This record gives sequence, structure tokens and C-alpha cells, in this order.
Amino acid sequence: MNLLRDRSAWLHGPEHRCQQPPPHIEHPRRIVLLGAPGVGKGTQAALLSSAIGACHLSTGDIFRLARATSPRGLTPAMHAAVERMTRGELVSDQTVLRIVRERLGCLTCRGGFLLDGFPRTMSQAAALEVLLQHEGVRIDAVVRYDLSELELIARIGGRRTCPVCKAVFHTQLRPPKRAGFCDVCGTELVVRDDDLPAAVHIRQRSYVESATPLLAFYREQGRLLHVSAVGTPEEVFSRTLTALAAHCER
Ligand code: AMP
Repeated sequence: MNLLRDRSAWLHGPEHRCQQPPPHIEHPRRIVLLGAPGVGKGTQAALLSSAIGACHLSTGDIFRLARATSPRGLTPAMHAAVERMTRGELVSDQTVLRIVRERLGCLTCRGGFLLDGFPRTMSQAAALEVLLQHEGVRIDAVVRYDLSELELIARIGGRRTCPVCKAVFHTQLRPPKRAGFCDVCGTELVVRDDDLPAAVHIRQRSYVESATPLLAFYREQGRLLHVSAVGTPEEVFSRTLTALAAHCER
């Protein structure tokens, strides 16, 4: 459906208007993507965004962009957040929630949303429920991608990201057409700081700690779908669409 959404209002803040906003969709999908760092949520979000029109809303992308574009102009809270992100630690709930609240328009957008990396803790999930309830919208499904830790580490090792348009590639699983350069905008691909081995270890540990209660919360509400992340991005994508169709038709 869509080719490339600019997501300006999400990435740069509410004072920015999206140049390519999603179309108004009669039944917009509002989906949360969960899974350990490296499982491929970003890749699946891009594929899903093309298929269902909703924007890929990643909190990690906001912090990476803040660091890349305005290192001197950061507020003290954002500066602390970026430092924590670079070390692989979680940013404080307070900072993440302020950032998400400022971008409430993206959560109520008639194109729907694909949240990636948020919520990450129970207090973020509870705050999101309150925000959405107040706006009269609800999450349709929470997709949790499953993959063994060994495979996760191998995936992160090969991951390459475009610093400009955020497209994600993998040296083996999803190689760009021209080695080392983004297929979408031609920029040289990079290894994210938080994909370096020391940060990866911390990220995996903090993911397990914070995700367990979150999964129980969404399971109890009957909104949690498990999708195996084994195989190519297209295979995982096809499984995701099947699981979502079955869930949303219930
Ligand atoms: P991600 O791209 O989702 O793996 O996020 C990269 C990094 O950004 C994480 O390791 C955290 O440091 C920070 N971050 C992103 N989203 C959140 C969140 N919801 N809560 C706390 N920290 C976050």
C-alpha cells in the first residue's frame, strides 16, 4: 500500500508535519510489536507498514535520530536518554512517556500504528492504556516474535542500518543490492552503537526482565499473538499476516 512514510511527526516531534501521512483507513490497525532486540521487529514493521498502511513508530529510532541530528541542542533529559541508549540501557519511563505523550497524534492517526520498542515496561504499558482509552482507540493485537538467544545474537551481528532513512538490512538474511549501501536512499549503511557486542548483552538482559510481566499483561487480555521469527523476513511476514487475520476476524 504505502511506499515510504516519512514519519516526521513521530521522529522529529509534533511540531513537524508528515509529508506523506498514511491514508485514512476505515478500520485502521493498531498493533504493538514485541520481541528481543535483533529479532527483526523493524524489518517486519516495514513490511507490515507497506501492507496495511500504518506507520512504523519506533521509540529507539527517536533516540538514535536525536543523537545523530542535534547532539548539542539536546535537553538534559534527552541527553541522558541518548547516553543510556548508547550503553544499551533502558531510558527512564518518565522520559519515554513524555516523548510518546508529545506524539499522541501519531497514536490516534487514522492510518493506525505499528508500535515497536514501546511499551517496554509495565508502567509504560499501563500509561499507554490510559492514553489510548482517553482517546477512544484500542490496541487490536500485540505480536510477540519468538527466536532463540543464539539466533538473536547471530542476527544482530549481521545487522546494518541506514542512518538516514532507518531501513534495516542484514549481511546474510537481507543483503542490500549494493554491498554496504542503502537500497532506499543510497546512504552508506552503519552498525548501530547499541548493536555492538557489549551493548547487545545488556539489552538482552534488560529485555528479558522487562518483557515477562508485559507478556503476561497482554496474554490475560487475549491480545497476545506468538509468531515464530525463524526463517527469512518474508516467511516471518507471511506468518504475521496469517496470525493477524485470524485474530482480527475473531
Ligand atoms: P530499540 O531500537 O527498540 O532496540 O531501542 C534502542 C534503545 O533505545 C534501547 O536499548 C533503549 O536504550 C532505548 N529505548 C527505546 N525504546 C524504549 C522504551 N520504550 N523504554 C526504554 N528505553 C527505550
